[in-house]
Amino acid sequence: MAALVGDCIVDDLSFTFFQFTFIDFTVGHVGYDLDGEGIGAVALLLPQTYRLYNLELPPSTPPTPSNLLKKSIQILKSNSHKRNPTIPPDSIDVTLVRRSFDSRRKTLRTSGPVFNHVIDVCLSSQCSQILGEIKTINGKIERLPPSPSLPPSTPTLSFKKKPTIIITGSGPSGLFSALLLSRTKLFKIVLLERGQPVESRGKDIGKLIHRNQINPESNFAYGEGGAGTWSDGKLTTRIGRNSKSVRFVLSCFVKFGAPEWILTSGSPHLGTDNLVKILREMRKEIRSLGGEIRFGAKVTSLGYPENGTVKKVRVEYSDVIERGLGKEETERINRMARERVEIGSEDIGHSARDVYKMLHKEKIPLKPKPFAVGFRIEHPQSLINSLQYKEYSDQVVTGKKGTDLANGSKDIVEGVLPVASYRLATDLGYDGKINRPVYSFCMCPGGQIVPASTSEEETVVNGMSFSKRDSEFANSAVVVGVGEEGDEVLEEYWEKWGVLGGMYFQEDIERKSRELGGSNFTVPVQRLPNFLNSTLSPTLPKSSYRLPKKSSPLHTVYPPPNNQLPKARNNRNIRTTNSWLPRRIRVAAWRGD
Ligand SMILES: Cc1cc2nc3c(=O)[nH]c(=O)nc-3n(C[C@H](O)[C@H](O)[C@H](O)COP(=O)(O)OP(=O)(O)OC[C@H]3O[C@@H](n4cnc5c(N)ncnc54)[C@H](O)[C@@H]3O)c2cc1C
Repeated sequence: MAALVGDCIVDDLSFTFFQFTFIDFTVGHVGYDLDGEGIGAVALLLPQTYRLYNLELPPSTPPTPSNLLKKSIQILKSNSHKRNPTIPPDSIDVTLVRRSFDSRRKTLRTSGPVFNHVIDVCLSSQCSQILGEIKTINGKIERLPPSPSLPPSTPTLSFKKKPTIIITGSGPSGLFSALLLSRTKLFKIVLLERGQPVESRGKDIGKLIHRNQINPESNFAYGEGGAGTWSDGKLTTRIGRNSKSVRFVLSCFVKFGAPEWILTSGSPHLGTDNLVKILREMRKEIRSLGGEIRFGAKVTSLGYPENGTVKKVRVEYSDVIERGLGKEETERINRMARERVEIGSEDIGHSARDVYKMLHKEKIPLKPKPFAVGFRIEHPQSLINSLQYKEYSDQVVTGKKGTDLANGSKDIVEGVLPVASYRLATDLGYDGKINRPVYSFCMCPGGQIVPASTSEEETVVNGMSFSKRDSEFANSAVVVGVGEEGDEVLEEYWEKWGVLGGMYFQEDIERKSRELGGSNFTVPVQRLPNFLNSTLSPTLPKSSYRLPKKSSPLHTVYPPPNNQLPKARNNRNIRTTNSWLPRRIRVAAWRGD
């Protein structure tokens, strides 16, 4: 959730925000083209950089710099117009752009799992001359334009008095908004977070896991860093991993202490332990730039804004325990907490249900969007490893060092594979009337299932892991899409609750799940074959969920047709699904995204 609240009108604010977003991570490519007519002969004498895609090495050949260099030279030679050129190895520089592990048994190009690389090779002018013209193919070998050295763009705005921008929520959206806006030094930033800083949030989460006691304002969903702090810390995205904004976010994490390999790994992962350290550093930078971060500060009203202008933000404060602050700083923060915040205008993100209700009550226009609901599903990690890697499964390493190595740190050693993960998706999940997307989501290898409820009346779980990813379990969400226009499943909810129908549907599911499980965050659990046959599981297997579990009819939680995972209409998909879903599986109610 990132509610940017400032005293400019909404459009101005969004424009400002996006413009500033790009300040720090500079410039695109300048438009001169070495392939251009008339300059080709000169170009061949200059150093040149090529990007090589799909450079594959089997697990038996460790992707060391020298092996990558050898493989790159092979590719360049086979695409050179010269016959068998001899290349001095020191005339080429190889830079790793991305590395991922493809565990498929057979692809068009390979007959077993491979490490797949994207590499930039920089050829000296001598080497360029030796190789002559290189055949370029889009998506395979591309010539990169030289990096320009343009000065970073500078903000053009100036104000007589610094406008104040209030940001609600210190989740990823709120924190990055605060960081970027603080760096412009053009605004006074106030970040309001209902939950606690990571130090005391960790203690609250400990109380929940060990003593079944929940703090409704500081838990797996609320507090510094937002819902993702006690999470798996996967940094994968479906919005283009090489895009400038994604690379910017990753490089920020590295600046704040994340391992450098997240910049090149195909499946970057931080783990809760790293996230906590990174968040402390982000907090420090925002404050050092003059930004205020107030914890225990819950926004309860935007003062019934008229014409899109917020006049007042009402905030309820609770006690805050922030370690590492001197007496003076603690007093300053306490003083700030007593001040009222009276500033205006808005642009709201998403999150807690009470926030949706508040926005709706205050007549702020809301628009529903489709979402997904389903279950967490858990297997022994060793089973996933053996399904994915077959004879290579004993090369899997866990533990911090092993994970770093397997994910692409510089000192790569032979025979090291990351804990296996999987992804399953079909848009042919047939529910008897329509096709629905069915997919696995947020897969946590070597992770655990955790209680993600924000109150005792609802039961909901999610997945998290530490950077070591060394738990004996693998879990992921398996979800079904709902909420497209005209979706019968939500019809009665839209009728009763209008735009908030989807939210009340979600609340109902979490309450039903609480009824099935019972108090103390007892989670209802069912083995997959029983779920599919609509029968109770007589016994439950071991699980990573540390609070109580109860065998329950999970097939009754969702209304038909979502009470069971929709069957795939296409036979091929059924087979794929069934071969992937082994019998030793258990499912637990899960809140979709
Ligand atoms: C256990 C778990 C594991 C996850 N794992 C991953 C993962 O591995 N990778 C991934 O990409 N995503 C993961 N997610 C999802 C990810 O966390 C969310 O997509 C992301 O946090 C959304 O960011 P956000 O800033 O929009 O909202 P949030 O992170 O939800 O942040 C909202 C913030 O606003 C605060 N807030 C709410 N209401 C108020 C109010 N009235 N006043 C003041 N503050 C308020 C909340 O306390 C919270 O800190 C996970 C989520 C959970 C719960």
